[in-house]
Amino acid sequence: MKSEKQLSRRSFLNGLTIGGALTCFPILSSLQSMADEYDSSKPVKRYPDPAVEVIDQRFSKYKIGNAVVERLWTGARWSEGPVWFGDGGFLLWSDIPNNRILKWQEATGPVSVYRKPSNNSNGHTRDRQGRLISCEHGTRRVTRTEYDGSITVLIDNYEEKRLNAPNDAVVHPDGHIWFTDPGYGILFNYEGHKSDFELPTSVYRLNPDRGTVSVVTEDLERPNGLCFSPDYEKLYIADTGSPKNIMVFDVVNGERLDNKKVFADMAPGTADGLRCDTDGNLWAGAGWVGEGFDGVHVFDPDGTLIGKIHLPEICANLCFGGTKRNRLFMTASQSLYSIFVEAQGAPLF
Ligand code: MG
Repeated sequence: MKSEKQLSRRSFLNGLTIGGALTCFPILSSLQSMADEYDSSKPVKRYPDPAVEVIDQRFSKYKIGNAVVERLWTGARWSEGPVWFGDGGFLLWSDIPNNRILKWQEATGPVSVYRKPSNNSNGHTRDRQGRLISCEHGTRRVTRTEYDGSITVLIDNYEEKRLNAPNDAVVHPDGHIWFTDPGYGILFNYEGHKSDFELPTSVYRLNPDRGTVSVVTEDLERPNGLCFSPDYEKLYIADTGSPKNIMVFDVVNGERLDNKKVFADMAPGTADGLRCDTDGNLWAGAGWVGEGFDGVHVFDPDGTLIGKIHLPEICANLCFGGTKRNRLFMTASQSLYSIFVEAQGAPLF
């Protein structure tokens, strides 16, 4: 018969051996996992990241010394239309040729397919109630995803003629949806269905409740990305036609555009998606030139190019996210990138 003392000692030793192993295993496993994740073939980035270029000292306050451009995921054909869902902690974006909307989850990292088919969706935003607004090439329409997941078609024609292929959208505080219709989705089969244009390439202002719509400009050849200034007094529109300028307009009474001006000449490249930070700087996805140009170009409200974030791929669009809206997400060709900056994205999305 074993004494209570012996049992206790043996139990203790067993516990040390087995329980100790069980206790240690997750730690060792975790370390091994970390070792597996460290891939010596990947270049290590030294702080500060030379990919963040200060061209004018006005940009230096937005650069964080110990933050680098991170490639979060790759595997798309043409990435566009990022939109941040702070309430869900995730980002949605379009992979247009693959006819899908992708989802990157901040807490867990993996990317999953949010919607397929997506009707070759392109630009996204959220309305004042937080619902997803999507521009669709394939169906040549703008839709709203309701809370129950059903999809409402907000507009697919103007004066009984089919829209070309809506590209990008923003929402004014009064609830109107402003969207561009340059028609890239019907120019080629790759990002939609090739077809004839029935309408001029225009920018529209849609009342989603009444279904009423007006043309705010048809003066641009390929109106593409667009963005309000933080005070909603100005509207920036990237024209990817010719010339490839970022234009700026005065917004009159929240209803119409006036005083068209060239804000930035993007030659020899183009700007596409646009977002403002709370200081009124304009952040533009840029590309089609190559190294030294492709990435994000940042402009002071006076139009001066003050900084660049260089990427190894063409950046089509971008948005701010994270709980402090200080993380810039960049949809760039086949990949999704991000970097923390000291700027904050202007509300809403
Ligand atoms: Mg675009």
